[in-house]
Amino acid sequence: MNRSLFIQQLETNSVFDICIIGGGATGLGTALDAAARGLKVALFEQHDFAKGTSSRSTKLVHGGVRYLQQGNIKLVMEALRERGLLLKNAPHLVHNQKFVVPNYKWWEKPYYGIGLKIYDWMAGRLGLGPSQFLSKEETLQLIPALDPEGLNGGIIYHDGQFDDARLAISIAQTAAAQGAIILNYFPVTGLLKMQKKICGAWVKDSLTGNEYEVRSKVVINATGVFTDRLLRMDDPKHENIINPSQGIHLVVDKEFLLSDTAIMIPRTDDGRVLFAVPWHNKVVLGTTDTPVKEISEEPVPLEEEVDFILSHIGRYLAKDPKRPDIKSMFAGLRPLVKGKAKKTASLSRDHLIQVAESGLITITGGKWTTYRKMAEEVVDIAIEKNGLENKPSVTAGMKLSGYDQPVLPADITRESEERLEQLVQHSARTEMCMTVEDFLARRTRQLLLDTNAAIKAAPWVASILAEQFNKDKDWVQQQINNFNETAKKYIPTLNLPATGRP
Ligand SMILES: Cc1cc2nc3c(=O)[nH]c(=O)nc-3n(C[C@H](O)[C@H](O)[C@H](O)COP(=O)(O)OP(=O)(O)OC[C@H]3O[C@@H](n4cnc5c(N)ncnc54)[C@H](O)[C@@H]3O)c2cc1C
Repeated sequence: MNRSLFIQQLETNSVFDICIIGGGATGLGTALDAAARGLKVALFEQHDFAKGTSSRSTKLVHGGVRYLQQGNIKLVMEALRERGLLLKNAPHLVHNQKFVVPNYKWWEKPYYGIGLKIYDWMAGRLGLGPSQFLSKEETLQLIPALDPEGLNGGIIYHDGQFDDARLAISIAQTAAAQGAIILNYFPVTGLLKMQKKICGAWVKDSLTGNEYEVRSKVVINATGVFTDRLLRMDDPKHENIINPSQGIHLVVDKEFLLSDTAIMIPRTDDGRVLFAVPWHNKVVLGTTDTPVKEISEEPVPLEEEVDFILSHIGRYLAKDPKRPDIKSMFAGLRPLVKGKAKKTASLSRDHLIQVAESGLITITGGKWTTYRKMAEEVVDIAIEKNGLENKPSVTAGMKLSGYDQPVLPADITRESEERLEQLVQHSARTEMCMTVEDFLARRTRQLLLDTNAAIKAAPWVASILAEQFNKDKDWVQQQINNFNETAKKYIPTLNLPATGRP
């Protein structure tokens, strides 16, 4: 991917078939699906790809054991199929992850055991391995860090695990290879209309300040929690349809789990599931579900959320993680759809596709796991409503870029200086890595794995990028300052807001 080349193409193109706003899982998936059908596509992301919710997930490619508990069979079946496809199409970034549900109450083994057998059965040929009952000794052998007191045994089951931001880059590269123009640091600032119908968008290159008028037959709003802001650009009287809800994760050292097997706690005090998942040699603990008033590009964990995770996971581990053990923490916002959404082309518990009177198509909600299916659906609707050339989706059988190549390391602390220099250069040349934050938060995952190590690496990454982009010392200093400001929000020593509830 080459940003300058994409800008040149933007300047020379007259009318696109589809213009996509938002470069998270949904927007990028949509760009790939549409470009692979031969449509002329441009995508604009206001910040970096996956800067929003798509780099802040629990990193699970899953059918959703929780949705099974809620009886949402259709959603689970769809997600299990997508899980299987992702393992085939992105084996470099998605793998089979073993989970244990520890049983401390007598009824948990039969209750969860039957549920997980149904989960296996629903996955069918795309299953990742059968669930199994374990004795207390077998459970402790698999996860020595579990608290042995009162433990009766456990149940093993399988799901997928992935690197969310890296998958976003891989989808962007695949879409670009199919002919899509994919631009980061390019906010959509307004919508173009002719006779009350949407016919394009105003976009701005935030790295140069240049503005462009982009003409397009269809415009798709895939802006996650920013959905309402875009809908108001279309109709200033639009009433909000999104209720944002925050979920946070804490990252601790592997010694708290002592295993490659993850723990799944099926029921917390607020009726959610809680995970402790090994990820890039650390453990991710999460998540929460807190309604919030404000939406922000960089949401901050709340005091009560950090306490909730530490106290809950502490009930299950022999050695309780404490605040100073947190290496990093990150928050993401779910775009939950309110019941009153109108003119719905397709609404499920999980995602919404809506076509406005102006023709603006909005897609929001859903899960990372089902991004491909959501993209297929929204492109089908875009084709049908606008009389575009109708070719079927081909992404179910399409390998994603890099599937046969080594992946950039997530943790750079053990790399040699020479190798690191190569990595930054490679990322700047081929992955549209434009800033220190892009490299440390999303091309590698250093910021999420160990924030202090990321802060230490920032000056050095800044100077390599400056060489690459021919920038001066002021630019380097500005990059370091910007990164440090963002990184503060990943360190738990900060005075956190106590609560964010409306
Ligand atoms: C805490 C948490 C844990 C989760 N865990 C999982 C999990 O383990 N597995 C799973 O399958 N799913 C998970 N999900 C769900 C999953 O992360 C989301 O469904 C998915 O990332 C949503 O992607 P999106 O592209 O719709 O939104 P986003 O990733 O938020 O992308 C929207 C993008 O639009 C951009 N944008 C906004 N306005 C503009 C504009 N004017 N111009 C240009 N760009 C704009 C934003 O910058 C943003 O990058 C989780 C969600 C949360 C919150």
